[in-house]
Amino acid sequence: MLENLTERLTKALRNLRGVGKLSEENMAEALAEVRQALLGADVHFKVVREFIERVKAESVGKEVLQSVTPGQQLVKIIHDELVNLLGGGATELSPIRPLKILMVGLHGSGKTTTSAKLAKLLKKRGMNPCLVACDVYRPAAIDQLEALGRQIDVKVYSDRGENSAVKIAKRFERQASEDGYDAVIFDTAGRLQIDEGLIKEIIDIKDLVNPAEVFLVADSALGQEAVNVAKHFNEAVSITGVVLTKLDGDARGGAALSIKTVSGAPIKFAGVGEKLDDLDVFHPDRMAQRILGMGDVVSLVEKAQEVVDEKEAMRMAEKLRKAEFDLEDFLSQMRQIKKLGSMGSLLKMIPGLSGVQIGEREEKKMKQTEAIILSMTPQERQNPNILNARRRLRIAKGSGTEVRDVNTLIKQFEQMRKIMKMMKGDGARKMMRNFPK
Ligand code: GDP
Ligand code: MG
Repeated sequence: MLENLTERLTKALRNLRGVGKLSEENMAEALAEVRQALLGADVHFKVVREFIERVKAESVGKEVLQSVTPGQQLVKIIHDELVNLLGGGATELSPIRPLKILMVGLHGSGKTTTSAKLAKLLKKRGMNPCLVACDVYRPAAIDQLEALGRQIDVKVYSDRGENSAVKIAKRFERQASEDGYDAVIFDTAGRLQIDEGLIKEIIDIKDLVNPAEVFLVADSALGQEAVNVAKHFNEAVSITGVVLTKLDGDARGGAALSIKTVSGAPIKFAGVGEKLDDLDVFHPDRMAQRILGMGDVVSLVEKAQEVVDEKEAMRMAEKLRKAEFDLEDFLSQMRQIKKLGSMGSLLKMIPGLSGVQIGEREEKKMKQTEAIILSMTPQERQNPNILNARRRLRIAKGSGTEVRDVNTLIKQFEQMRKIMKMMKGDGARKMMRNFPK
C-alpha cells in the first residue's frame, strides 16, 4: 500500500495536467492520499494533521514543473518536509565528561541492548565507558547486561542485594568516576505501560545523577502509542535524544515522526539488529523514504528543478544582454541566488563585480532587500528612475526599513546595471551558465 503512494498521488492529481500552480483545491484529493498513507505508516493522527498543514503551506501557489507530474512534485515537497521535521537539532553526543547517559523507555523497547551498543560505539570512538545496572526488579536483567558487557569488554556495575535503583545509580556514579571512566551508561527498568512508580524512579535517578543525555529508547513498531510514550517520558525527564530500535523489522517508521514532533528531541541513533554493532547514526532522509516508500521520485524532481533554473538563467542572460534588467529581475535573481548558495561565490564569477558593495551580504540583508523591492509597485520595479523622495519614503515605511536602506539598494542596483551594460552580451550569457549547481 505504501509503496504505491507516488502512484496514488499521481492518479489523484491526474486532472491537474496542464495546471500551472498547486492550490488548496487541486491538491485536496492528493493530500487526502498523503493523509491515508501517513496514517497507514502509523503516524499519530494529530501529527498527521499538523504535517498536512505544513505541506499545504509549502505547496500552495507553487508552479508545477514541466517535466514532472504534480503528484511527483508534491511527493518531493512532502519528502523534504519530512526530512526537515525528522532532522534538525544537534545529533552529536554531549561533550560533557564524564558523559552520563540515562536510558529510559518501556519494557522490551531495547534499553539494555542499546546500552551495550552505545558502550561499544563510544569505545570505538576512543572513550572509556562503563555500564550501570539499575534494573533491580528482575535478576535476569542484571545477568543480561553483564553478559553483554563481557562481550564487548566493558565494566558493568551491579549489586544484586540492593533493591533501590536510585541508590544503585548514586553509588556507582561516584564509583565509576573514581575508577576513571569518562562515560557512564545507566540501564533502567521499564514497564509494559507507563506507570507512576516507573516515572518517579527515573525522575529520582535523573535528579541524583544529573546526566548530560537522557535517551528515550523506543521500539519503531510502537505506532500510535509513540505519541503517549514520548509525551510522558519527555514531561517527566526532558529527553535529550531518541534511539529508535528494531528498524530492521518491517515497522513503517511512523513512530519516528510522532516522537520527534511530540518531544522535539532529535532522533540520534537507530537500532537495526540484535547484534551489538547494529546501531546506526540516524538518517532523516532514509526514514523519510521509508515512510513514503517512494523510490527515486525525489531525484527525478530535483533534476527537473535544475532544468527550470537553467531556463530561468538563460532568460535572465538574454535580458541582461539587452540591458532590460529591472528590479523585478533583480528580485527573482536574488531569490535564485539564495536558493543556490552564497552570493559571494556567485559574484566572484562576475568580472568587475568583486569590488561592488554587495559581496558579503547575509541572509538578513537579503531579506531586507527583498522586503524593499516587494514594497514597490510593479511600475517602480520596472522603472526605478521614477523613485523620487516621496516614493522612497513610502517604500521604506512599507518594508520596515529606512530611506537610507532604500537609497543604498537603488544605488547598488544602478551600479550593477551599469556594469551589466558594459559587459558584452556573450559575457553575460557565460556568467549565467556558470551558476553553481
Ligand atoms: P529492554 O527491556 O528495554 O531492556 O529491552 P532489551 O534490550 O532486553 O531488548 C528486548 C529485545 O529486543 C531483545 O530480544 C533484543 O535483542 C531485541 N532488540 C533490541 N534492539 C533491537 C534492534 O534494533 N533490532 C532487533 N531486531 N532486535 C532488537
Ligand atoms: Mg532491560
